[in-house]
Amino acid sequence: MPTLEDVLYKLPKARVFTLVDARDAFLQCKLDEHSSYMTTFWTPWGRKRWLKLPFGVSVAPEVYQRKQHELLMGLSGVEPIADDILVVGCGDSDEEAECDHDAKLLALMVRCRQVKLRLSIKKLQFKVPEVHFHGHILSSTGLKADPEKVKAVLEMPHPSDVKGVQRFVGFVTYLAKFLPRLSEVCEPLRRLMDKDTIWLWVPKHDAAVREIKQLVTQTPVLRYCNVSKPVTIQSDSSQYGLGCCLMQEGQPVAVASRALTPTEQNYAQIEKECLSIVFACQHFHHYLYGRDNITAETDHKPLIAIFSKPLLNAPKRLQSMLLALQNYNLKVVYKPGPEMYVSDTLSRATASGTHTRSMHEQHAVCSLQTEQVDVEHINQADYHNVTDQCLIQIRQHTDRDGQLQALRSVILMGWPDCREETALAVREYWPVKEELSVQNGVIFKSQRVVIPRSLRPEMLARVHSSHIGGEACYRQACDTLYWPGMQSEIKDYVSKCTVCNEYAIEQQRETMMSHELPMRPWQIVSLDLFQHSGKDFLLIVDHYSDFWEIDLLPDLSAETTIKRYKAQFARYCQPDRVISDNGPQFSGVEIRKFAAEWEFEHVTTPKS
Ligand SMILES: [Zn+2]
Repeated sequence: MPTLEDVLYKLPKARVFTLVDARDAFLQCKLDEHSSYMTTFWTPWGRKRWLKLPFGVSVAPEVYQRKQHELLMGLSGVEPIADDILVVGCGDSDEEAECDHDAKLLALMVRCRQVKLRLSIKKLQFKVPEVHFHGHILSSTGLKADPEKVKAVLEMPHPSDVKGVQRFVGFVTYLAKFLPRLSEVCEPLRRLMDKDTIWLWVPKHDAAVREIKQLVTQTPVLRYCNVSKPVTIQSDSSQYGLGCCLMQEGQPVAVASRALTPTEQNYAQIEKECLSIVFACQHFHHYLYGRDNITAETDHKPLIAIFSKPLLNAPKRLQSMLLALQNYNLKVVYKPGPEMYVSDTLSRATASGTHTRSMHEQHAVCSLQTEQVDVEHINQADYHNVTDQCLIQIRQHTDRDGQLQALRSVILMGWPDCREETALAVREYWPVKEELSVQNGVIFKSQRVVIPRSLRPEMLARVHSSHIGGEACYRQACDTLYWPGMQSEIKDYVSKCTVCNEYAIEQQRETMMSHELPMRPWQIVSLDLFQHSGKDFLLIVDHYSDFWEIDLLPDLSAETTIKRYKAQFARYCQPDRVISDNGPQFSGVEIRKFAAEWEFEHVTTPKS
């Protein structure tokens, strides 16, 4: 069923309106016999049944709307919504619009006569510059809040119980279309409606009600969206809510806001700001999807950087938000807070919007909600190889680390605009600020865990536990760990390692000599034997792909090993060349015979 939103975008040049109403709308629909029997009811004079669609049947409005929609299909500038029919005259001048309007109205009349749809004269609003339509006022300048509704809000008494709060918030939500800050201002009132909350009305609730009443007096006029002109979305987040506004040529087209869930309230500032863009895109999906020239303005500078960096560098939660935004052709730009007047006025008053939505919008909202849940459930820790115990340990140490505590609050509150304004303690994290996030008390840089100072020696020892070289240690640590200056600390640690130094001279470096690169898989393979847990294994590696196969060897005889090669070669391919060392299994008569039979060259390298 079409709703107001589905009509608004068709009205950019609307100047004259006529609103007609179907007379006894439902009673114009004939029931078929089967349906008719279903409406049978008892009376003192026996059983009766309806022949026409009666009032009070729950499906009646939908059935009627669909019928009316079908009957009036194909008429341009005629918009049936519920049992109202809106005729819109568009044009660049009044005369033009009037002409346009008359033609459309005439077409509607002709159609009504054809399909025998009767209209009511009582509710007719004929050729007016402003029309009351579903609780709003459509005018040539745009969509306005109905003054009656505004007056009703202003006259509502301060709520005195939960029911009262529900009524008040519910009613104000009706004007949410005009109030981008509603969700935020409503926050204290919403808390009162929580289950198991004890009713306690304090001054902040009075203040919230007063502020809402103040806000509804300043509702803007929303202009109609013009599909041929570029659009801008402004979005903003505050402690408790998100607000966004769709603009064209500096004027608001639509606004929306929503409250943050308790989990979302703990997001890092950059994540909240990104979430507000996601919210805007998904809420205004029908304005944005599939079009170019969308500018997203944010007053949070670090967000710009994250949009220009590779997706992989972003923390997991941001990553999934950025992915959701890939649906839209966005250009994200920075705009200083004071210039973001709309989103600023809006995001401080948020509504948990519950008005009826179109199918499409509902779909968009559903996907938004799943998105939201998905994003909420992303646990950074699930994505790397750190055990739960280790994470708990890191959290405990993070809690005791003064610097990381300061860092945590900066991440959550948002970074200042320039490096000089950043607290000295956390300044060394400035270059990577876009990649930092907090989850369950642990700080992450992209996918890596930020290690508190007290744990760093232990981590160094762990990283170097196998006594591999400094470079290799760093490469390994890079996957999971982070702290400023980690690379030089690892190098330093390795260079001072007594075990390594003792063996350093013995383990002289051999020059690396690479094999020639084969042209196809299994052209050249290497073989070797190794022992693990007291058992012998055969390893075969393909030089082309580095693909390997491991076989368990029951014994070390040449016969057994050759049997294993044959199985592998038969499965994959006959190699041109086989490389192995000079072990007894590789140097006997059997292997030479095998090589000759299977026509491959056997090359041996000196055993190290
Ligand atoms: Zn070592």
